[in-house]
Amino acid sequence: THTINKIAAGEVVERPCSVVKELVENSIDAKASSITVEIKNGGIDLIRVTDNGVGIPKDQVEVAFLRHATSKITSAEDLYEVISLGFRGEALASIAAVSNVELLTKEEQELTGKRIEISGGKMSAAEEVACPNGTTFIMRHLFFNVPARKAFLSSSSSEGAKISDYMYKLALAHPEVSFKYIQNGKTIFTTSGDHELKHAILNIYGKEYARNTLECYYKSDTIECMGLIGKPVLNRGNRNYEHFFINGRYIKSQLLQGAVEDAYKTLVMVGKFPFSVLHLYLDPSLVDVNVHPTKLQVRFKNPDTIYKAVYEGVSHALREAYL
Ligand code: ADP
Ligand code: MG
Repeated sequence: THTINKIAAGEVVERPCSVVKELVENSIDAKASSITVEIKNGGIDLIRVTDNGVGIPKDQVEVAFLRHATSKITSAEDLYEVISLGFRGEALASIAAVSNVELLTKEEQELTGKRIEISGGKMSAAEEVACPNGTTFIMRHLFFNVPARKAFLSSSSSEGAKISDYMYKLALAHPEVSFKYIQNGKTIFTTSGDHELKHAILNIYGKEYARNTLECYYKSDTIECMGLIGKPVLNRGNRNYEHFFINGRYIKSQLLQGAVEDAYKTLVMVGKFPFSVLHLYLDPSLVDVNVHPTKLQVRFKNPDTIYKAVYEGVSHALREAYL
């Protein structure tokens, strides 16, 4: 089963950024209000995620690292079936199969927590320890036992840049969570978790950005759009600064980019790619997010309604400011 874990791990753990993503999503699922992410050497040498969430019950810690479907896999051919089923409950097992992992966790009502070490999928230590409430997950030496995959990684600076990009979007997605992001010993940003999107923008992008944004808002009975749009001074030469979140998840959408740019063109008549951070809230049944978990693509049941919400939200902000 170690081999199977290693093969399947390649699908979940593509690169250091996928590890960060899985760990942070677990922290958010655990209702953490404060999450620290530290990486070294692009995440290849070290990824540490600390949260103040609910923790893992002592008797569940080892179970959390089991691949749920392991007993069903009898040959490499079956792997396809497993992959097609998706990877629920497979992240920790996959990460632990291809790195050295240390986990510390404690539930609030317990006096002590638990620490375990797993190397290449094999547990090497488990003990009761004193530790803070919540969970710390330390991953070292990604792909140390799968040199072929390690060779496929980009330079550590480019892997690090992918993680930074993900962390920025994550902090914008969750202004209600306080994030701290540390790279090679240097704190890149911290956010307060005070629920204010504008404060998150200030912490991530700086004063120039926070100062030059306008509030967007639109609501109908099926959809709500809120967030911030940059004044023309913040317009960029590309779309990297057009951020969209649906029900708290970062997504890519040409439809929404079009809505922002069309509203901008109509009302301000300048600038191609406005800085924007827009959150959309709608009934999950009206959007199909699941093309591939990492592709960030969505399909809308009713694109016209979505387009309108963004167009109106942005137009409202620009009208207030400029007309
Ligand atoms: P999934 O998130 O799909 O359930 P994972 O492999 O990512 O699968 O995690 C396995 C389990 O470990 C989770 O279901 C959860 O119970 C527990 N877990 C993982 N990370 C944390 C965390 N940071 N805080 C609390 N529980 C966690
Ligand atoms: Mg998970």
